[in-house]
Amino acid sequence: MKKLALVLLLAVVAPSLALAWLAVRSLRDQEYLLQRQQSFLYQGVVDAVATESETLLNSYEREFAGLVGLMLVGHNPQEITPSFDDQLRQRWPLAQVGFAVNLTGAILCPSPLARPETKVFCANYDQFLSCRQSAEVYWNSTANVGGNNDLADNGNQKWLQNRYGTQVQSSEIDNSLKSFKSKPPATRNVSPQQQSLPASKEQMQSFSKIAASEAEFCQLMGTASDGMLARFVDNKLNVLFWYRRPENPQYVFGAQLSIPRLVEKLKLALEKLAPSLRDEVCVALLDDSARPVALSHPGFRTAWKRPFVATEIGETLPHWEVALYLLDPAKLTRSARTLKFTLGAVIALLVLAIGIGSWLIVADLNRQLTLARQKTDFVSNVSHELKTPLTSIRMFSELLAEGRVNDPVKQRSYLSIITAETARLSRLINNVLDFARIERGEKKYHFQTCDLNNLLRDTAETYRPHLEANGFQFDCELPESPLLVNGDRDALAQVIVNLFSNAEKYSDSRKEISVHLEQQTNPLPHVELKVLDRGLGVPGGSEEKIFEQFYRAHDSLSSGIQGSGLGLTLARQIARAHGGEVVYEPREGGGSCFTLRLPLCPACDKKSA
Ligand code: ADP
Repeated sequence: MKKLALVLLLAVVAPSLALAWLAVRSLRDQEYLLQRQQSFLYQGVVDAVATESETLLNSYEREFAGLVGLMLVGHNPQEITPSFDDQLRQRWPLAQVGFAVNLTGAILCPSPLARPETKVFCANYDQFLSCRQSAEVYWNSTANVGGNNDLADNGNQKWLQNRYGTQVQSSEIDNSLKSFKSKPPATRNVSPQQQSLPASKEQMQSFSKIAASEAEFCQLMGTASDGMLARFVDNKLNVLFWYRRPENPQYVFGAQLSIPRLVEKLKLALEKLAPSLRDEVCVALLDDSARPVALSHPGFRTAWKRPFVATEIGETLPHWEVALYLLDPAKLTRSARTLKFTLGAVIALLVLAIGIGSWLIVADLNRQLTLARQKTDFVSNVSHELKTPLTSIRMFSELLAEGRVNDPVKQRSYLSIITAETARLSRLINNVLDFARIERGEKKYHFQTCDLNNLLRDTAETYRPHLEANGFQFDCELPESPLLVNGDRDALAQVIVNLFSNAEKYSDSRKEISVHLEQQTNPLPHVELKVLDRGLGVPGGSEEKIFEQFYRAHDSLSSGIQGSGLGLTLARQIARAHGGEVVYEPREGGGSCFTLRLPLCPACDKKSA
């Protein structure tokens, strides 16, 4: 048993508890894991919106180049330049100012006097566009270097020669582009709550990925035919597109974009947000001061600088960010808590199930072991019970058969011993056989009307000589009138004999046995047969167990009383088959009291009893 408990502990309980402990530990990280999962998901969302915004800008830049290309078809660039600003704004609403410069360093359009916007534009860009002054600009060098650089052999080459006074190769131009002096990275305007990078690189995320470079316009253009650049003038973002025709590379046409109109167009990128996300998050386009310029949920307010996740759009819109905010930030904590409680409850239930299961296994095995032990005891007890009467019968019958006993009194005494021992043997064999039949469900009862008063009287009178011969005082109190029950006469007699036999076996020095039979009406009419003795009594705690098969409260070894542990089991089974019961209660003043209760049968025919 100890070995089994140890195996169970090592194989089931200990691993289960270890797993439960690990599971509980992992529960503590649920909120963090959930946040991490969501941050990856939402980072993907903002990255997609940022890429979409960049793609839109690139498409507008191509649209602009195409439009200018069309305007130049069949025209000399000099014809277009004077009215380029007006023409462009008419055809392309995104343009705030249209400009044209030539590489000799003159701004051909617009005139500073034309409009207030052109006045400001010329003041800001006169020096820069005519390549007389460098400025801090943002531009995508990869796009430029890898862009359309088929102008290296044309006028631009000449301009570069004039400017730098030497013959330059296109590779050298590229190198000069790459070697612009980059400014150190600036800090970002927003600090996202969730960082998508590993902890070591998190620090880096507080810095902007895009840095400004100090460059001249001609350097920026290099050998490309079109491009875009961004600049901050008086802390305001300017985005410029430019284009030049391969045939006339010395004429550069460009546009400064209207930011409000550009924002209107960029709202398209926000509209592509998946409907399932709309109820969960708000995506905002933040300008370089971290102010929202477009929102997926108009009217939503929050601390704009503390988004859940955010990403920078890129060089085209420097320091602009796509930021994502949770509509209900507490929801995440709530979901994490619910998940934690659910998993916690499941773990607790599993541990409980394993615990109860183990306990049931141990209890069942314990029962099986006890039963196996009881069966072994039963076999040895029955063998012993068979051997004792057989030895007596053999001894006395041999004495009588050999004619060694001539005294008639002794002869009668020996014969009565043989009879009693034979009866004991029959009783034992009947008990064993009946028990086997009941266990197999083969026991058949022959129910008929029977007078219990009469049955008890007959059984008691048969048993009385044996009891009195063994020094017992045997009192039998029976009523006058018959007490009819519907039952199997032989089976009921077996119950009564078993109770008498037990009263005799478990009596000690006080050899007194009483039998009472009376009619009871409460709760229903029934008969009560009590067999009382002044013997050892049943030890406390075994009052119900004595009715279990093979159970013996008085061990053969310690008490010296032989038995099979089946007498009371059979008595109770037979009584229950008759709709009655056998119960035990300690007798006042010492000893036992066994009561057989059977339902009365008032409708039964008295004659047949
Ligand atoms: P057994 O063959 O051992 O007598 P039973 O089923 O008849 O088997 O009885 C079960 C146990 O109940 C006995 O072993 C004994 O310990 C206890 N018992 C039965 N009758 C009495 C009694 N009259 N007084 C004390 N103990 C009894």
